[in-house]
Amino acid sequence: MTEYIVKESNLTEFFQAVSQNRTLLSPVGQGEKCRLEPTTPDKIKLDFANTHLSPKASFFPQTERLLAFHKDKSLPNSNVYQDLGDKAQDCVLFGLRPCDAKGLTVANKVFQNDRFVDPYWKGKYEKALKIGLACLKPSPQCFCAAVGGSPFGEQGLDVLAYVKEGGLGLKTLTEAGEALIKSTKAESASLSNEIQKLEQEAYGLQKAEKDSYKVITERDLMEVYNDPHWPFTAENCLNCGVCTFFCPTCHCFDIQDEQSEKGGVRMRNWDTCMSSLFTLHASGHNPRPTKVERVRQRFMHKLKYIPIKQDGVFGCTGCGRCVVMCPVNIDIRDVAAKMCRPTQTAKV
Ligand code: SF4
Ligand code: SF4
Repeated sequence: MTEYIVKESNLTEFFQAVSQNRTLLSPVGQGEKCRLEPTTPDKIKLDFANTHLSPKASFFPQTERLLAFHKDKSLPNSNVYQDLGDKAQDCVLFGLRPCDAKGLTVANKVFQNDRFVDPYWKGKYEKALKIGLACLKPSPQCFCAAVGGSPFGEQGLDVLAYVKEGGLGLKTLTEAGEALIKSTKAESASLSNEIQKLEQEAYGLQKAEKDSYKVITERDLMEVYNDPHWPFTAENCLNCGVCTFFCPTCHCFDIQDEQSEKGGVRMRNWDTCMSSLFTLHASGHNPRPTKVERVRQRFMHKLKYIPIKQDGVFGCTGCGRCVVMCPVNIDIRDVAAKMCRPTQTAKV
């Protein structure tokens, strides 16, 4: 849509304007403590690599109260679950990395689609304006280019920002983004050539080749599923689930009813396909009885099943969090390379 610049000296005023009547969320803290949190316009950081946790928790909290009931018979509706109401607030997220914004769109299609809509996700997701911050220097573990992304990717964003000499460059991507930036004193500019140049430079800094995993989406599903590498790929896995909890697109959850003498709540908690309990049936049967099936499920879901359901879009955005966090160094890039090659030449 339109391009703008904000001078360094006007940045605090700019963030004040975009967060007028909205909560401002942006990465705060350093290293392992860098996370998306409510902050103030004067504390915005522009020099972080990536947030430790993905932004999904802002829309799909690790634990969330859905319904509640009381047991006081002297009051109306005793022992009847009541909706706790939509507590979503208007907010603006500044500093989403393009991979994370894309990850939110993958999860959004899970929580809102033509079969059903999750009201808890919808309220939060739709009340959030999303300003991305392009990656000028991708981290060593990043591989967004290999899975169809870009350090300057625009998917899922209202505005894409990047750090430029003397301030911020901005490109509006939706009507809401355009209206937001127009409400500030950002100055119109022509940035397409600079954006193109910086994007090519950032691609060049990633070790991953552009679209190098696309071949997985073209391979026969059962061939990839039955490949002999899976028992070897799964061998070291602890089924700790860390990879799924850090992942911006993982969305498994469990619903629990908790109660006391006075009442109860229905909670939704993150769960993980890496846990044997996740698929354990009440009968005792478990369709994914060993870690081989569970590890295969995780990678097949990310790189094969989600692309089938979401028009070729991978369920992995290349953020690299699972690469860094896995305690036994299972690297999705190695697994993807195995999933790319024809079975007859597969080496474990
Ligand atoms: S983080 Fe590593 S060890 Fe833990 S479940 Fe994931 S792949 Fe397995
Ligand atoms: S699978 Fe790993 S690299 Fe891919 S989006 Fe999830 S955490 Fe990031």
